[in-house]
Amino acid sequence: MRFIMADHDRELGMGAPITRRDFLNGMAVGVGGTMAASWMSPDLEALLAQGGTGAYPPALTGLRGSHVGSFEAFHAMKDGAFWKAAPAPQDTREEYDLVVVGAGISGLAAAHYYRQSRPNARVLVLDNHDDFGGHAKRNEFTHNGRTYIGYGGTQSIDSPAPYSAVSKALITELGIDVARYPKVLDSGLYKSLGLRSAFFFDKETYGADRLVTGDVREDAFLAAAPITDSVRRDLKRLLTERFDPMPGLTSAEKKARLARMSYTDFVTKLWKLDPGVLRLYQTRPHGLFGVGVDAVPAQDAFGLGYPGFQAMGLDPAAGPGQNYDTIRNPEAEDYYFHFPDGNASVARLLVRRLIPGALPGSTLDDVVTARADYAKLDAAGSPVRIRLSSPVMRVRHIGPAGPDPRVEVAYLQGLKSSGPQVLKTVTARSVVLACWHSVIPSLCPELPAAQKTALEFAIKVPLVYTNVFIRSWTAFQKLGVQRISTPSMFHTSVGLDFPVSLGGYQHTTNPAEPIVLHLSKSACRPGLPVRDQHRAGRTELLSTSFETIERNIREQLGRTLGAGGFDPATDILGITVNRWPHGYAYQYNSLSDEFWINGGEQPCAVARRRHGRIAIANADAAAYSYTDAAIDHAHRAVQELLA
Ligand SMILES: Cc1cc2nc3c(=O)[nH]c(=O)nc-3n(C[C@H](O)[C@H](O)[C@H](O)COP(=O)(O)OP(=O)(O)OC[C@H]3O[C@@H](n4cnc5c(N)ncnc54)[C@H](O)[C@@H]3O)c2cc1C
Repeated sequence: MRFIMADHDRELGMGAPITRRDFLNGMAVGVGGTMAASWMSPDLEALLAQGGTGAYPPALTGLRGSHVGSFEAFHAMKDGAFWKAAPAPQDTREEYDLVVVGAGISGLAAAHYYRQSRPNARVLVLDNHDDFGGHAKRNEFTHNGRTYIGYGGTQSIDSPAPYSAVSKALITELGIDVARYPKVLDSGLYKSLGLRSAFFFDKETYGADRLVTGDVREDAFLAAAPITDSVRRDLKRLLTERFDPMPGLTSAEKKARLARMSYTDFVTKLWKLDPGVLRLYQTRPHGLFGVGVDAVPAQDAFGLGYPGFQAMGLDPAAGPGQNYDTIRNPEAEDYYFHFPDGNASVARLLVRRLIPGALPGSTLDDVVTARADYAKLDAAGSPVRIRLSSPVMRVRHIGPAGPDPRVEVAYLQGLKSSGPQVLKTVTARSVVLACWHSVIPSLCPELPAAQKTALEFAIKVPLVYTNVFIRSWTAFQKLGVQRISTPSMFHTSVGLDFPVSLGGYQHTTNPAEPIVLHLSKSACRPGLPVRDQHRAGRTELLSTSFETIERNIREQLGRTLGAGGFDPATDILGITVNRWPHGYAYQYNSLSDEFWINGGEQPCAVARRRHGRIAIANADAAAYSYTDAAIDHAHRAVQELLA
């Protein structure tokens, strides 16, 4: 239902016809507490009943990622409400050699490794989302008969440390030739059109909206930036002055101190600079850590090449407590590949192996445009089945104890259907939990208490990856920009998609044609300890409606690109917001995790211990937010079960 719209909303194009706007997606769903009486509120139940089935998930727009219907049961399970009102389980009498919980890259890889060793094994993979791939999510938009593809999560084959032999072997086995990347990327396209990166100074912070192209290291940028003389002078000092704020200490001593102070403190307390300097750096580490410089250790900022360390004589080799992402490794940097749908193609290639026929084709070139047949994922009689929209609620060993025990897996089915939710059970000889570690303690109460505590430590980093499908990118061309940093707006960056063409998929080279814009946001609360920032961000993401996000997107694009002729009311053709309240795996941080500096036992090592016939995978098992971790730990978990 639409009410009388404010004039400004009309200018922004709120309510304009964009690619299917899902009613469900417009609604903010309360977290946990709102479902106290029954595990699912009547409102939500009624809304879900209208969800319908049979959709093609990659083409769904609106609020995606952790979409409505995929997570509410977990929150009710965590606060105890679910089991108080749970329907009686129905035994499907299905028996599997392996059940995998989680159809992300780790879960799909686990199914693959198990089948590699036991080719006749019957495997079931269960996931709470309506699409497979976990964070590796494909978004599609169609206009005038042409399909445009974007990535809704896991962006690239890319890791700060080299891929292990195990991960590399899987990438090769899937047919991905990483060395081909320079040939599929049109790396000169944006440069040839004169497009550069830019920074948007907003009127709320700087008195007037101003888009300044270039980089903070350039004099022209500093001259054009609407900043005070004091900030300009201090920025220049930070970038160029040969000042050592810790004279007389060795490199190791300095790094030990830097590991325990934030970059914010380094700049304001050691250098004693105007805090306004930090506004230009605050959101810079968002893409890696989901928090700003207030929660990033100064040692990590040094590793990332931030200014201020030029005269400190620091050893570039990794120091104790340094985050993996901040350690340069040329071998790792060369191992890079981006598909138009990001690592969703890795997930799709795994599905192609597991269920021949579910994804047509056989090569790297045809995978990008291949349309997955979702009806084939869970076909009766298939040795491998992938069952979506099926959150697993309980995993437990069932008797009799002995050399060949069984595990019962209870999951919900029907979250999206018009029928009632049904709790079903299957049994398995072995189970791999490839899901988020923070869910596992409520899922599997029989685990030892110390392991549950370690699993709960794996708080995820909340992120939003939004794809906005626009009619043309002439505004970018007129303004000479490719990527814009917008630190004080809802999304903190906006950019044109990677110009990648592969097989039958061709990236646009003509600014008058449609393109997918990629916007990202890290939900955080500067000033709080890092893990509290992630908690606060998660709550924010779960309580923000699609309508609010859409309004912010339109406002943001109108203000940053308006001078280039962009009109949010007419130029936006579609919006897909991939909301990830549980995004990156938490990587240890030397500001808060003492064991990370001093070398104590890491929680992830306790969390991933095998328990009877249940093994534990997922990128959380390495506290390392990368695809190679998801693969390596799938492999380890399966080997533990096969041993
Ligand atoms: C926005 C974003 C961008 C990223 N970019 C990159 C990148 O460029 N390169 C890179 O290497 N890594 C990237 N990552 C990290 C990414 O998480 C990993 O690379 C990898 O995809 C993780 O795979 P996974 O299978 O371990 O976890 P996930 O992909 O999270 O899969 C786990 C699945 O288990 C499901 N699940 C959870 N609980 C249950 C339950 N009880 N029942 C059923 N299912 C359940 C989840 O919903 C999910 O679908 C990115 C992550 C995010 C969020």
